[in-house]
Amino acid sequence: MWCLYLYHRFCCNVKKIQLVFYSFSLTIGNMKIGIDIHGCIDLYPEQFRELTHQWAVVRNHEVHILTGQSWEEVRHVPEEHGIVFTHHFSIVDWNLRKGTPMWNDDPRGDGWWMNETSWLISKGVYCKANGLYCLFDDSPEYGQYMPKSCCFIVVPKEGFERYYHAWLSL
Ligand SMILES: [Mg+2]
Repeated sequence: MWCLYLYHRFCCNVKKIQLVFYSFSLTIGNMKIGIDIHGCIDLYPEQFRELTHQWAVVRNHEVHILTGQSWEEVRHVPEEHGIVFTHHFSIVDWNLRKGTPMWNDDPRGDGWWMNETSWLISKGVYCKANGLYCLFDDSPEYGQYMPKSCCFIVVPKEGFERYYHAWLSL
């Protein structure tokens, strides 16, 4: 139906995108917004603290934290930075629960490993199942598995602090 791939080189379109989201939220009420931790919250903690406070507390939207690592290992990051969230999702925890073939003795490093497609598709499956309207993430490779109903917003490695306030009005 509608799917916007936003890259920050397209900053000039932020106003148009705001209008799309604003009219969309008027139509459907409260929104469901997803945020990745690594490369997003841990890179721009002050900005996402302000954004999530505005979204979850002031506007009563749902804020979903999506991460690769086990939630117990990584929950301290959003909590220490004062991020306001209503839900959380871990790729590792979810795949362990549903029985995806995984192993933790890989010579490439510590932690759980799995088939790459199983890993990359997980956030898209969660966004579709839970009706998320957008996901802020620093890894474009997740975008190919996003449902058309979810706007995939790539958070850049630098420069997000210059215009993050544009997203306050979601
Ligand atoms: Mg990331």
